[in-house]
Parts: sequence; C-alpha cells; structure tokens
Amino acid sequence: MVPLLDVNAQNHPLESELQAAFTQVLKHGRFIMGPEMEVFEKEVAAMTGAKHALAVSSGTDALLLTLMALDIKPGDEVLCPAFTFFATAGAVSRLGAVPVFTDICPICFNIDINDACRKVTSKTKAIIPVHLFGQCADMDPILALAAEHGLKVVEDAAQSIGAAYKGRQSGTMGHFGTYSFFPSKNLGGFGDGGMVVTNDDELAEFARVLRVHGSKPKYYHHYVGGNFRMDTLQCALLSVKVKRYAQYTADRQRNAAHYTAALSKLPGVVLADPAHCKCASTQNEALAAQGAKIVLPVAYGHNTHIWNQFTLRVLGGKRDSLRDHLVAKKIGCDIYYPVTLDQQQCFAGLPATSRSGCEVSHQLASEVLSIPIYGELTEAQREEVIAAIAEWL
Ligand SMILES: *Cc1c(COP(=O)(O)O)cnc(C)c1O
Repeated sequence: MVPLLDVNAQNHPLESELQAAFTQVLKHGRFIMGPEMEVFEKEVAAMTGAKHALAVSSGTDALLLTLMALDIKPGDEVLCPAFTFFATAGAVSRLGAVPVFTDICPICFNIDINDACRKVTSKTKAIIPVHLFGQCADMDPILALAAEHGLKVVEDAAQSIGAAYKGRQSGTMGHFGTYSFFPSKNLGGFGDGGMVVTNDDELAEFARVLRVHGSKPKYYHHYVGGNFRMDTLQCALLSVKVKRYAQYTADRQRNAAHYTAALSKLPGVVLADPAHCKCASTQNEALAAQGAKIVLPVAYGHNTHIWNQFTLRVLGGKRDSLRDHLVAKKIGCDIYYPVTLDQQQCFAGLPATSRSGCEVSHQLASEVLSIPIYGELTEAQREEVIAAIAEWL
C-alpha cells in the first residue's frame, strides 16, 4: 500500500516541537496577529528573498487580496491558464473581472505565452502565471508581455514555494506572488493558510491595510478590504516546519529522480522532450512515432523543480485503465485536473472569446495522472509504484 500523500509521516516526528509552539501561543494568548506571525513572515521572506511577506488566511485569499491591491475591477480582463486549480480564476471572477483562459505548454503544463499574447485586448489588466506542480512558468516572455501592455503580474505560486526560474525564486518576479500552506502543498500546514510576497513597498503597504478590512488606524476605513489574516497559531506551527523545508524539497527531488531513472527504462515510457515546448502537434507526432504509452514529466534546465506533483501523461485513451490498475494495487493516484477551467459550468456565461482555444489543456486533462511523490516515501514504496506501472504496461 502506498498512499498518494501521508501528512502524518512528515508531521508526527515533530510532535514535541509542535506542542511547544502551541503551548507558547496558548500561554501568551495573542491569537490574532501575535508575535509568531511576524516571525514566520520574516522566515518566508528570508527563504524566498522577497522584500515583504504577509501571512494570510489561504492561498485563495492571497490571490483575492493581491488582485484587490492591484485594483482589478468589474469588466477588467485577466489572463490565466485553463489548466490549474480553480482558485486562480475564482479570485478573478469574485471581483467581477473576466478570467480569459489561455492554453498551456504540453511539456511543463504552464501558461502558453504565445496564446497569452494572442488573447491580450484593450481590457486586459493582469496576467496570472501559475507555477503548476512545482515548476515555474517561462517568466521572461511573460514579464516582457506584461511590460509591453502595462499588465500587472501575480504569480500563483501555491504549488511552488522554493522553486526557481533562472536563479530567481518563484513568487518574487511579478508585482505579487502568492503561496499556499494547504496541507497537500510542499510547505503543508495544519489547516488553511497562505502568504503574499512582493518587492514593492507601496503594494505591500496597501495589501497590509486590505488584510484588515482596509483600516488604518483601526476603525478608520479608507478602503473596503476583508479579513485575510492567518492565525498566530498556524504561523507558530509552520515556523517549526519552514526550518526543515530544504530537506523536504531534497527528499521530493530524490524521489522524482528515482522515478525518472527507473520508469524511463521501461518500454513505452518516454521523457517529455523540451524541444516540443509549446508545440503540441509536433509533440503528438513524435510520441506516436516512438510508440509512447506514458510520458514522464521533466524540469527545464533553467528551472529548479520542487515536485508538488509527479504527473504522468498516459496516452491513447488509457489513463483511466492505469488509474484503475493502481487503485486495485492500493497505490494512491489522482487526476489534477479532470476538467479545465474554460469548461467549468460556473464560467459557461463568460464571453466565448474568454473560453476559446484551450485544446492542449483539454488533451492533458484526459491524459494526466499524478503518483505519490511526497518526501517520506520509502525506497520500497517507490519500487512498489514502479513495479505496478511496469505490470500495467
Ligand atoms: C492550492 C492552490 C490554490 C489555493 O490555495 P488554498 O490555500 O487552498 O486556498 C491556488 N492556486 C493553486 C494553483 C493551488 O494549487
């Protein structure tokens, strides 16, 4: 038996330190914006190199707060990938703005910059590159497009805290970056939590005010904000884990390297080829010529991948067959994501132009399957996963 994720394997060894952190907060009783919040913010700022870090209630609220701070309004268009977790587009929609869905690159699963360029209009105000599964999107052309059209850039780095692009940390390249501490993320908390980072002093200050209902000083409201605070307790507990984060990442990278080495030796299994970046049709032809059944994920040479997910592409309409086989073998796996955002029912009322041209996203939604990659997997467990896949081939 191999679960897809085992949060206890990471958390239980820290029990005494976590209890000490809890006791400290219990004793002083400053449950809202207590001293541990600032400590944790400083730790995340130091780790990512961001000038400002603001602890917030979730990764979703981090997105909402940053879009509010960037003054995204009803009718504005915001570019975001069709293949991501719902929150990316949900935050746009909640402000009355229109998410305009772009297609993705079939190699790294991230925003297809050429498609984003095609979809810019006079109403486009921002772009949200998502660094999906732990690997950064191709930020240089995204930042160039944003500069050309005066767009704001919010990096949805919920799955990629600690990842890097050409030596720059995920979340620190745009106007804002957002992280999530949802338990399944790489820095997994004990409930909901998130972080907003920015290098811009004014944006940081505005976001800080919006985090507490737009008030400064207390009870004097210049803006309508929200309650976007993260609990002191959650910050205290995550401070225990953030000190070990480099090891957590190294463990995931070791697991990914093991899978890559072992699985790529199996007949019918190929590595994704970065040469086909952004060109799904030539890639499909090449994969067919190779007789590929499974495509393994790869990291671009300029990226440091932190492997929030290890996501296979299963070709030829066989994805559900592999999933059923793994489930029967008691190996955890899941589909991230089965329905692209342009096809979600809640967005059916959006203009057709904001939901067009996402064919690669649709193809991948029918092919992807993520297998266990969490850091505490044992070598025997990894071998069990590899053997089960070999048996299915
Ligand atoms: C998890 C996630 C979010 C939302 O974070 P929460 O803390 O769960 O609100 C946003 N975007 C992406 C890409 C995510 O994976």
